[in-house]
Amino acid sequence: MNLLPLNEWFPDGKEVNVISGPCSAESREQVLETARALKETGLVSAFRAGIWKPRTRPGAFEGYGEPALEWMLEAKEETGFPLAVEVANAAHVELCLKKGIDILWIGARTSVNPFSVQEIADALKGADVPVFIKNPINPDLALWQGAIERIHGAGINKIAAIHRGFSSFESGPFRNEPMWELPIKLKRQIPELPIFCDPSHICGNRDLLPYISQKAMDLNMQGLMLESHPNPEVAMTDAKQQVTPANLVKIIKGLSVREASSDDQEFTSHLEELREKIDELDKSILLKLSERMNIVEKIGEYKRDNKVTILQVNRWDEIVAKRTNLADALALGKPFVEKLLELIHGESIRKQTEIMNSETADSTK
Ligand code: PEP
Ligand code: MN
Repeated sequence: MNLLPLNEWFPDGKEVNVISGPCSAESREQVLETARALKETGLVSAFRAGIWKPRTRPGAFEGYGEPALEWMLEAKEETGFPLAVEVANAAHVELCLKKGIDILWIGARTSVNPFSVQEIADALKGADVPVFIKNPINPDLALWQGAIERIHGAGINKIAAIHRGFSSFESGPFRNEPMWELPIKLKRQIPELPIFCDPSHICGNRDLLPYISQKAMDLNMQGLMLESHPNPEVAMTDAKQQVTPANLVKIIKGLSVREASSDDQEFTSHLEELREKIDELDKSILLKLSERMNIVEKIGEYKRDNKVTILQVNRWDEIVAKRTNLADALALGKPFVEKLLELIHGESIRKQTEIMNSETADSTK
């Protein structure tokens, strides 16, 4: 994909690239007060606010639209902040382009819909504006990638993705499950694509923000989008997850930013050594797994020839109990080992089913 590197278009290089501002522009005063306080921190590169708010149910506050854009422009005039605004249709794009909004982003409820993304892409043709594309609400990597391709297809080459987590049936500690493997896979598919993390919408509450922000840094993500509000408790949208500018400073200053690589010779050679060990260990894990599967095949044949079912629940319960005790003793972490065993067990059953359904030498007679 022909993309411009982030440092050629994202505003001034701070140690951590941060886009911040309220979830929604709620009033002229709120917009100006937030922008001023963020400017004061010296840690923020671009100012965000939602002016059209996608809401789950009608009747809730849906943003002030065009007047709110004017408040943002006033904030830019005063603070110099480049402005970032969410667009969900062609009319939004046209208005933002007309008003000179610096960065557009496509929200999760829009990137989920190829019709909407294509409409936005068509409205962007001929424009030279950076576009951030949030992951769709469901964990569908192809859909996320498709949205990026549609925007790129419109001739936009200043593109970044935003990882904001994925909606899930299971209730966990997060509003949206991070499922880190998805942004990692996206990065492997499009290595030149910068990826930001949006801890606010992943967490859904303030307490987890430092943890998710640090994790994003450790995964070498290129920046953060964090919601901030002068008085989060009374925010009209996403009150639980917004932080005051002062607390934003605490989060950003608390981050350890590590380099993706190092020139230090000793460090590099020691790392190489450790990686070789890992390579060897991975190889022996795979060899052992293959040995295990060979035995599984033998058991499958034996069960088939003796007309015994594949799954003996008692035996499986016994295995899980024994192995997780061992895992505990080895400090491996029970949930991890349980998941691993489940995977191995699933594959064993698949193999045995294959064998069960294959004909024995006898039955063909
Ligand atoms: C937002 O950034 O305020 C927003 C609506 O986010 P998302 O699209 O990630 O839900
Ligand atoms: Mn929000």
